[in-house]
Parts: sequence; structure tokens; C-alpha cells
Amino acid sequence: MSQAVLPGSTIGVLGSGQLGRMFAIAARRLGFRVHVLSPDNDTPTGQVADVEIQSSYLDLDTVSQFARQVDVVTFEFENVPGETIDAIDRFVPVHPAGHVLHTTQQRLREKRFLESTGIPLTPFRPIHSLSDLSAVGDDNLPAILKTAAWGYDGKGQIRIDSREEFESAWAELKCQDAVLERFVDFEAELSVIAARGQDGSTVFYGPMVNTHQDHILDVSVTPTAFSEHIRAEAIEITRVILNELSVIGVLCVEFFLTTSGELLVNELAPRPHNSGHLTVDAHATCQFEQQVRAVCGLPLGATTQLRPAAMANLLGDLWQNGEPDWTRALKVNDLKLHLYGKREARIGRKMGHLTVLAETPAEAEDLARQARETLQIPQSQGDFVDAV
Ligand code: AMP
Repeated sequence: MSQAVLPGSTIGVLGSGQLGRMFAIAARRLGFRVHVLSPDNDTPTGQVADVEIQSSYLDLDTVSQFARQVDVVTFEFENVPGETIDAIDRFVPVHPAGHVLHTTQQRLREKRFLESTGIPLTPFRPIHSLSDLSAVGDDNLPAILKTAAWGYDGKGQIRIDSREEFESAWAELKCQDAVLERFVDFEAELSVIAARGQDGSTVFYGPMVNTHQDHILDVSVTPTAFSEHIRAEAIEITRVILNELSVIGVLCVEFFLTTSGELLVNELAPRPHNSGHLTVDAHATCQFEQQVRAVCGLPLGATTQLRPAAMANLLGDLWQNGEPDWTRALKVNDLKLHLYGKREARIGRKMGHLTVLAETPAEAEDLARQARETLQIPQSQGDFVDAV
């Protein structure tokens, strides 16, 4: 086993959004230094890191220089180019490893891997051309056509209800390799977040129950009211995935729970996940600290949940009529506000989240939704704010 990277050492992070920011906060709390590399400047992660390097991921000279100044590297998004990981690997370890990224950054590869383990997943077909699509029978519709690469938050996805839509859907996805997934009639969407250490030990959070708006995560709640059997199965599937991929780090598995009670894997993310943000306030050790511990070869922390919790995302839409009224939400007991330091609020952009702890999951969810509503500035007041 490789030697642990101890507090006082420097961790490099690729990617500079909110996941990197919360990772850096956890790392600094443990006494590590953090260097971040991304193509942007004054980023959510850069604002809290020791060093922010602005560079293309494919500027391999700068990437190598970055690698020489750190002791271990991790990432906050899965679309890091393979060449970048290879360049860093020559100097310091990257966790999770390049093969984990390679599998999970392309839907078709990810699905083939899941199939090979016998894990149940959404029925799918690879689509490489319009004629592949035309060969699909009506009994496979409705379906969702998803690009094989570079998709997130529902980007690169089109729902298809009838054969007449094949041509326009294929053109809209710009004729890229894709997968066609059966539209799943689900009762709920769940996720399990897990960490695996360098010694092969594993810890789990959830399942969280997640609701989406326009394909973007809206609210996560835990614990869930589903049976112990569902919980145990979701965790067992996640354990198999972590071990089969030999993950060192954090990984999220997103599931559909079908109306007939079956758990199907939707997708994997080899990093902390939006549905795990509530672990920061609701669990003994959060998902970001687990990432720090795992990539540094330290023991993983306890995942004990302190109280039922709900997390509501704050998207740029909330800023439409002016800066949200933070004072109202901050008056709610047991509410924690997290803002990511992004300057520009755009529709659909994740600007922050709030987490509420309560006596029951349902109460936490109600309070989180209500608190978010109170943040929104009414139209008329917004006009006034704009005018002054
Ligand atoms: P994804 O980026 O694949 O996680 O998709 C984003 C969201 O779109 C999911 O969380 C679901 O709400 C919805 N979705 C994706 N794939 C399917 C599917 N095969 N059937 C039903 N809903 C889906």
C-alpha cells in the first residue's frame, strides 16, 4: 500500500466549481494545502484554495508543473481528458484512477461495464447512426436519446415519443455516438454515495431520495421511507461497483426505483455528488472529507447521520428579480446556507444550496422548500431593486 499523504501536504484538484470548493474547505480544515487547476479564474474553488492555476487541461506543460507542486491529485468532474491524467500520473498519483474516469466519462462504456457485473440497469441500445435509430421498434418507445460523452444535468438528452422524431432528435444531438434508453416509469430516484479507501474499506450514505426539475437535481432527502430491502440492495450494488472499479475516492450511484419495485442503475459519478451535499451538515463525516481521507490514504470517517435532513438547490433563477432575501432563510432554525461565490446568476446555474435538519425527513423537506420560497424576491420589489 502506498504511504499516506498527511496533513500539511498539498492536494491538487482538477476542476474549480462548487464540488471542488467544498472539497477544498474539508481539506483545509484537516490542515492540507490545496492547489486547483481549471481554465477559469476567481472560481468557487480558487476562492478558497491556496493556489489557483488558470490553464487549459490540455496545456500539458502547465499541468505537469502543477503536478510537481502537489502530493496527490483528485478531480471534481469526470470529463477531465485522459491525456491530463496521464501527464499527472508521471509525477504523483491521481485518485480515483484514470481507468475509473475512462469508464465513467462515456455512457456506453459505463453501461457495458455495469452489464458485465450483472447489475440491473435501464434497458438501452447503442446508437452510432440514424439507421441504428431507425431499426428501433415501437415497443422501445418512449425513450431517451443521450449522447455517449460529455452529458450532465440532462444536457445532451432528448425524449423521443414516436418514430417521426428520430431524424430531428439525431440531428439535434449533432449525430454523435449515443445510447437510447427506455423511458423508465419510476416511483422515485435514489442515490447512494460511497467512499472506498486505499485499504479497500468502504462507507456508504443513503439512499437519498432525489427530485429533479428540468433534469436538474432540485431536492434531496434522507433517510428515505423505502423498505430495508431496497436500502440494502442499493448499498450492495454500490459496493460491487466500488470494488469492481477499484475506486479510491468517492463515487455516487444514481438509481431509478421502478413502479414495480425494481432498482435500476441510471448513472455513476466518480466524485462527490450534489445529492450528498446534505452530508456536510447532517452526517458525522461529510462526502468531501471522505474524498480527502480516501485520496490521501487515511482511514475513512463514520457516516452516522445526526438528524433527518433535506437539501434544496438554489439555482440562478432565484436571482431573476434581484438578490434573494437571505435574512429570511437564515431565521429558520437548523437551516444551513451554502453559497458558491459565483458572480453571475444564470437560469439553471447552481449558485448554492440550503440544508435543513428536522425531526422527520418530511418535515425537513417541507421546511427546506418553504425556506427557499421565502428567498425569492417578488417581481414588483425586484423592479424597485432594479430601479435604484
Ligand atoms: P441523467 O443525466 O441521465 O441522470 O438524467 C437526468 C434526469 O433525467 C434523471 O435524473 C431523470 O429524472 C431523467 N431521466 C434520465 N433518463 C431517464 C430514463 N431512461 N427514464 C426516465 N427518466 C429519465
